Parts: sequence; C-alpha cells; structure tokens
Amino acid sequence: MKNSESELVQDADARALTYLEGINYRRVFPNQDAIDSLSTFNESLADEGRPGSETLAMLDDVGSAATVATNGPRYFGFVVGAALPIAAAAERLMLAWDNGSALYVTSPTCATLEEIAGRWMLDILDLPKQSAVGFGTSATACSLTCLTAARRALLIRAGWNPDEDGLYGAPEIRVVVSEKTHITILKALRILGFGSSRLLVAPVDEHGRIDPARMPALDDKTIVCLQAGEVNTGEFDPFNEIIPKAREAGAWIHIDGAFGLWARASGKLRHYTDGVEGADSWTVDGHKWLNTPYDCAMAICKDPSLLAAAMNSDAAYAAGTAKAQKNLTIEFSRRARGVPVWAILRTLGRQGVAEMVERHCSQATHLADSLRDAGFDVINRVVLNQVIVRGQSDAETQAIQNAAHESGEVWFGMSSWGGKAAFRLSISSWRTTDDDIERLIKVLIVARSSYQLQQD
Ligand SMILES: *Cc1c(COP(=O)(O)O)cnc(C)c1O
Repeated sequence: MKNSESELVQDADARALTYLEGINYRRVFPNQDAIDSLSTFNESLADEGRPGSETLAMLDDVGSAATVATNGPRYFGFVVGAALPIAAAAERLMLAWDNGSALYVTSPTCATLEEIAGRWMLDILDLPKQSAVGFGTSATACSLTCLTAARRALLIRAGWNPDEDGLYGAPEIRVVVSEKTHITILKALRILGFGSSRLLVAPVDEHGRIDPARMPALDDKTIVCLQAGEVNTGEFDPFNEIIPKAREAGAWIHIDGAFGLWARASGKLRHYTDGVEGADSWTVDGHKWLNTPYDCAMAICKDPSLLAAAMNSDAAYAAGTAKAQKNLTIEFSRRARGVPVWAILRTLGRQGVAEMVERHCSQATHLADSLRDAGFDVINRVVLNQVIVRGQSDAETQAIQNAAHESGEVWFGMSSWGGKAAFRLSISSWRTTDDDIERLIKVLIVARSSYQLQQD
C-alpha cells in the first residue's frame, strides 16, 4: 500500500506544474462548488493508514480547486506577492535537504547562504553594513523580535536588567506609534505588554504620514515606530524630519518596512526612504514584494550584539555564535528562509529587483490615472504600488467589489479611508502584466456600469 518516495514526489511535482500552467486561467477566487467540496476533507481520523498517493490526489483534486490564485497575475488583495520561479525552485530543493537553520552544525549550507543573503539585503536596501539580519516567518514576528531588542536595550541603558529582573518595577518605556500604524505592530506591542491606552499616538497628514510638527516628545526611554509603506496609501513617514531628532533624544527608532522598504532597491523610488538608514531596527518581508514563497521576513538590527543578546537561546547542547540564526529571531528550528532570498537576489540582481518594483509602481500609476479618467474617485496620490478607490457611495463601492469578485477575473480587498468604504488595489506579483492591469480596469468599469444601470 505504500508508495515509494520518488513516486510521490514526482506525482506532486507533476501536479504542481499542472497547477502553475493553469494559474493565468483559473478563477482568482474559487467558485462556490469548489468551496462546498472542501467538506470532502471532513473525515474522521482513520485508525489504519492508506496510500500516500490517495492523500495527494485528494489534496490536489479537492484542495487545489478551492485555492485562491495569489500566485497568479490578477490577485490585487492585501500586499501579496506571487512566488518567483527561482525562489520556488530553491524551496523545492530545500525540502529535499530538510535542514533546519538554527545553527552552523544543523546546516553549513543554510548558515552560509543566510549569512550571505543577510549581507546582500543590507547592500540592496543600503542599511548600515554591520547590522545583524535575522530571517523570520513574517513581518509580525520580525517586528516582535526588533521591539524586544529595543525595549531590552533601553532598559539596560536605564540601569535595569530585564533578563534577570523581568519587567515588574522596571522604568517605564514609552512607545510612540503612528495613527496609521499597522495592526501587527500593535499586536507585537501587545504581546510585549505595552497596553494600547499607554501608547502615544502620532497624528498623520492626509496621506497617512506622521506629521512631524505634532510628534509627541521623545526621550531616551522611548521607542518610536515609523513606517515605510502605509498599508492603504503606500506612503512613507518623513524620516529625514523625525529620525535625526529622535536620535538626538536617545530614542530607539524601529521601521516597519514590510513592503515599502523595497522602494530603496530602486534609484527612482529611493528618495521616499531618505533618512531611514538612521534608524536602529527595520522589518522587511520577503514574501510580499520580493516574491519569495511564504513565510519569509527579516529582522534587521543596527547593533548586532543587541539583537543577539535579546534573542539568545544558547544551551549546553545548542551553543551558537552571535551570528547563529537561532540567536537572531524568535524561532529556534525553521527552514532556511534566507535561501529563497539569496536565490532571488542572485538571479535578478540589483537591476532585476529594481525593475520589478518600478514596474509595479508604474502599473499602479497607470491604473489610478485610468480609473480617474473613467470617473472613479481615486483617493490617494499613488507614490508606490497601492491604489485606493471608491464609488459614489459605500453601497456602490461594495457592489463593485462584489461584481468584480463574481467575475472570477480579479480579487481585491476593502478598507476604509477618511471614514468611507474604499477598495484597495495592490500590485505586487511578478506575473502581473500591463494586460492584466487593463483587464482589471475593464472589470471595474463594467461592474460600476451594471450597478448604476440597476439604480436607474
Ligand atoms: C503585511 C504588513 C505587515 C505584516 O506582515 P506579515 O509578514 O504578514 O506579518 C506589517 N506591516 C505592514 C505595513 C504590512 O503591509
């Protein structure tokens, strides 16, 4: 009853290839039949085993059918990149290795490649060369990592040892966040024990950038969280105006650059991030704009010793150097997430990454211009790859989204801006061509016309 390993892996590869070959043609969000069929999975756990080939067939026949084509060209939801072929291929090979990348001894190859990937990341993002780069699962986990290091560093500087004495009775650490800070920063702060009513909120301007004139006062017991790439508008906090003053006050500056930090890879877009190199820590995702598979993100800390001390997990049986990845992130055991980063950077080079990022931004600009010409209310001025749009009413906005989803040709999510419903279009898949953008525009125009006809 057992299938050989090679039979199973070949079967899986063949099925994966078929899926990929159809990615441009499938519905972006599955239809109701496919979703209803997911009930097939609802079996009780069997006592006896069965052939793996049968499990794989079920996974593909039932599972693949109800997937969302986030790896396709017309998924415009959240900020979700697809997976570049070289990164997906590298991951496939890595699955055969099944090496953890906690320590050099768990995989000399992974440890070496993650060190090089980290160096190249600092190079392409032009961040301080001595920084430590920890590869984690998500921007959420990596921001948690950086903010842990931040609080620890400020407490130690204030004469308190949190590693030994914990937090009860510790000097108060203040945290400043943007009014538009990402929910995962708030989550990381909550996990760390910073209650929401204690956070100091910096007001933003119409674009969603912190207004420096209304920044709360800073001191050397304050963590400031700024962002590169607001999740709706794609805008950047004014780093050049905020960071030098925050430095002078002795505050710790953390940057959430989940997708927006990639603007630094482009000579044309880089100016939005000017001054961001003066921060103490940065978070950036691989699985969004770099188009690695999930889960891939980086925690970058200017002072490597502060990150390595905060994340240390050395034990008699598992001692590492300050460079060991298990001493730089939350995870102890994990896949080498730096390998797909290395594979993409090596294959695309600086120019390839810049071209991808710039292409998405010019597609976003074209999309916004076309929608404005067609009479849509495009809310943001489009500095990056994000476009937020609304109809003449919340009902029309919602109806357009519903009809667009029903078409199966595109998918995008909703948000709100200025208290009104809006839909959010994010361009971050390497597969998205100019034709895909034209198709999106057409779907939106048709959806709006049919709504308006119904109203007449
Ligand atoms: C997506 C996003 C995050 C969270 O990233 P994950 O990798 O999904 O945890 C944080 N900040 C911003 C600005 C984002 O867009």
